Order: sequence, then C-alpha cells, then structure tokens
Amino acid sequence: MTHISTDLTTAYAELVARGLSLDLTRGKPSPSQLDLSNAMLGLPGDGDYRDAAGTDLRNYGGPDGLPELRAIMGELLGIPTDQLLALDTTSLPLMHEVLVAALLTGVPHGDGPWRNVEGVSFLCPVPGYDRHFAICEALGIRMIAVPFTDTGLDLDTIRSLVANDPSIRGMWTVPMYSNPTGYSLTVEEVEALVAMPTAADDFRIMWDNAYAVHHLTDDPDPVIDVLGLAAAAGHPDRPIVFASTSKVTFAGGGVGFVGGSPANIAWIRKHWSARTIGPDKLNQLRHVRFFGDAAGVVAHMAKHRALLEPQFEAVLQILEERLRGVASWTRPRGGYFISLDAGDGVATRAIALAKEAGILVTAAGAPFPYGDDPRDSTIRLAPSFPSLDELRAGIDGLCTCVLLAQQERAAA
Ligand code: PLP
Repeated sequence: MTHISTDLTTAYAELVARGLSLDLTRGKPSPSQLDLSNAMLGLPGDGDYRDAAGTDLRNYGGPDGLPELRAIMGELLGIPTDQLLALDTTSLPLMHEVLVAALLTGVPHGDGPWRNVEGVSFLCPVPGYDRHFAICEALGIRMIAVPFTDTGLDLDTIRSLVANDPSIRGMWTVPMYSNPTGYSLTVEEVEALVAMPTAADDFRIMWDNAYAVHHLTDDPDPVIDVLGLAAAAGHPDRPIVFASTSKVTFAGGGVGFVGGSPANIAWIRKHWSARTIGPDKLNQLRHVRFFGDAAGVVAHMAKHRALLEPQFEAVLQILEERLRGVASWTRPRGGYFISLDAGDGVATRAIALAKEAGILVTAAGAPFPYGDDPRDSTIRLAPSFPSLDELRAGIDGLCTCVLLAQQERAAA
C-alpha cells in the first residue's frame, strides 16, 4: 500500500490556508479581450444605418442577415454568402432551433419528424462541449459517447454505429480547436464523415466551427470546406455549419451564423421566419464597420492571440513542471481550452479538493453526455478569463490537488 507524502498534505494545507477565491470554470473572454472591441460600442454611429444596397437597417426585414457581414464571415468559413445566414447574436440558439425543427417537422429529404424515431440518438465524440449535450438532454435526444482515440476520431466505431442503427440521426463536431481538447479534424476525417454510409438517410452533422479564426500559432489549422466535400460525396445536406463572433467581439452581443446546403438553408429560413421578422441588423452593421473585411477579422484575432498565448503558455508550463510523468494534457493550437487527463478515478476528487481550497474548475464529467466520465479522469482547463497571476496560482493549486487525489487513490 502506498502512503500519502507528508510534503503533499502540508502543501495542500498551506493551499487551503491561503484562502484563494479563483474561478477557472468557463471559457470566457477576459476583460482585456473584450476591450479590444470597445470601439464597436460607438458604431455604427449617429446617422449610419444603411447597408451597401441602401436599405434602412433600423426597420424590420432582411431576414437572412446583412449580406456584407455574411460575405465577410463566408470568406473566413469558406461558405458562399447565400448559403450562410446571420440570424441571432450567438450560435447556440441556432443549434437548438435546428434540432427542435428536426424533431418537430423533420429535415429536408428525411423520413419525417425525428420525434417519431424510436430512441432518436446523436453521436457525441468525447470529451466534448457540455452545452451541446445539454441541448440533446433538454430535447430528449439520446446521446452515445464515442471517445477520441490517441490519434483523433474513432472512425471505425462511428462508421459502424451509423451504418447499422437508423435511430442515430446525427453527431456533434467542433471541427477546429475543439472544446475541450483543442483537436482539429483532418481532411481525411472530414472526408470519411461526409462520405460514410448511414442507416438513416437524413443523418446530420452539427458542425460547430466556434473557433474557426481563433488561432494560437503562426501556422493556423485550415478551415476545411465541409459543404464542398459533402456535396462531392453525394451528401450535400449532411453538414450544418455554425459559427459566431462570441469570442471575436462581445460574448452574447455578437452575431451567430448558420450555413448549409441550399435545401438546408431554405428549411432553416422557413423555420426562423416563423420566429422573427428579422435580426438585429444594426448590430450586424456595427460588426461590418468594425472589421471592414475578412482581413480585418484576422488582424483583430491576432490581438486576441497576443493576450491568450501567455495564458496558455503559463498553464502548460505549470502542468509540465508539476505533473510531467503522472498526468497528460493537450497542447492546443487554438481555441479556448486545455484538457487534462489526471488519471483514472482522480478528477472528481481533485476538483473537490480544489474547491475546498477556493479554486473552482469546470465540474468533473461536464465534457461528457449526462455528466458521466467513465474514467473520471478529465479536467477541462479554461485559461482565458483570470489574470495571469490568478491563473498561475489556480493551476498550481489544482496540480497539488491532482497529486493528492492520485496519492489518495493509490493508498486506498
Ligand atoms: N460552441 C463551442 C464549441 C463553444 O465552446 C462555445 C462556447 O464556449 C459555444 C459554441 C458558444 O457559442 P455562442 O456564444 O455563439 O452561443
């Protein structure tokens, strides 16, 4: 039986005695990042309310969103303007709406409402994004977790599940700098996903490209033309693309986009038009004025990177110093998260110890459907929001908790 080192119990007692109060739970932009977009608060400005075509944007109408902004985002996402709608201020409501419409009415070229499908299910590569899973849970869509392998998606399992089970109507993907692993899909993986035979003809991929422009290196991962590849593979309607400016300009006060095949877009437009007479086009105009063009977005994201990179480097450095050899973690090239594998049966206890010490991290199990991490090993780290000093103190303290939880388990 292993004993718990007194050094570690002392270190933990000292940590608790410090009375920290640190919140590392969610991947929010920091105040300095939000400051980068402050100039937008004065836009479009008194008297500026017409788009390039001369339309008065103060009024109802323009249900697809501002063409100029859709063109800018379309260029960045590789989607033609007429296949990309700017409908809301964030993207999660669009994902929710798509699934509600699919359940109530069915999707284009489908066999009717998904609510009529016995045990309607979605594949969820894990670890993944908790809010995707929350949408499925809220709408009664059963989730089937498919763990990532060491090299990426478990395509063999995914292919075999979708080929044989017609109740599986879709899957979640965060194709670039995924939440929480930072993993980006390869072209080969995307080709496989859009081409694979599925028992359900109306299988959909919820392609949440939330981090398409959120690079942390000089050598960005590519935006893969999923709509083009899907059309070439004979499944043009399979992917539905989502994106937003939540972590570009203002979280909650940005613009949410949805893209897809002409059939999917017509279907989404129809459902959304029952809900609203038009989006906030003045906010969209503000974004157009602020960015100017796609190059303006890229330049703006370089400023985010300058703020985020030191945060990520600090976390990775502390993990390296404190946990090398006893845990593993991802080294993202973009996005907002690092995923720490603390070892089997360790995450819940380490997170509880951290909470006792005043360090809040994302709940154990959150990156898994139904909050169930079968190995109880994954801890999602969100480096963006705290100040660098708070982040260092929080991650260092968490490492103490991981080590203690590991030793407690070994001693049990
Ligand atoms: N998708 C992913 C993968 C995310 O990580 C997040 C936020 O953390 C969102 C979507 C939220 O997007 P929005 O603010 O556009 O609803």
